[in-house]
Amino acid sequence: MHRSYENKDITVFWDSDKCFHAKKCVTGCPEVFDFQRRPWIDLGRGSSADIWQTVSKCPSGALSITYNHDAEIRFDEEGCRSVAYLNGKQIGECDYIEGDNGWTIVHTEVDREYGGKGIAKRLVYSVTEAAERRKKEVIPVCSYAVKVLADKGAAD
Ligand code: SF4
Repeated sequence: MHRSYENKDITVFWDSDKCFHAKKCVTGCPEVFDFQRRPWIDLGRGSSADIWQTVSKCPSGALSITYNHDAEIRFDEEGCRSVAYLNGKQIGECDYIEGDNGWTIVHTEVDREYGGKGIAKRLVYSVTEAAERRKKEVIPVCSYAVKVLADKGAAD
């Protein structure tokens, strides 16, 4: 399961397949990370600095984090994509094709000047989370999505 959680400044990503419940997050920032609560991560309950420090101690890589750089991500189901905006201007998108076997992620792109800011990862997570919530299989074909979903350390 892939989930992302945002506040104004940061986005926290969670890949449940990698989590081996070492609970460093829960002990580091108990108000924010609580496995008994839904959603279990609530970024409104801690400072971004404390959350950043806690996420960086996750031993499994299940948690990761990025600054938002003022970019906003919107899921567009009709358009089969997620789109990144900065001050109302589109700066990136992640496209998928809906098929009998699931959602195939075919393309992820962020304008060159906004690369390396975690925006592409947010786009891929947005599509992946939407698919998972609809019980659709995610089939990454675009090389960036393959990297993100295999968690090979892709930043953007
Ligand atoms: S610190 Fe990481 S591995 Fe441990 S419970 Fe939290 S998310 Fe899972």
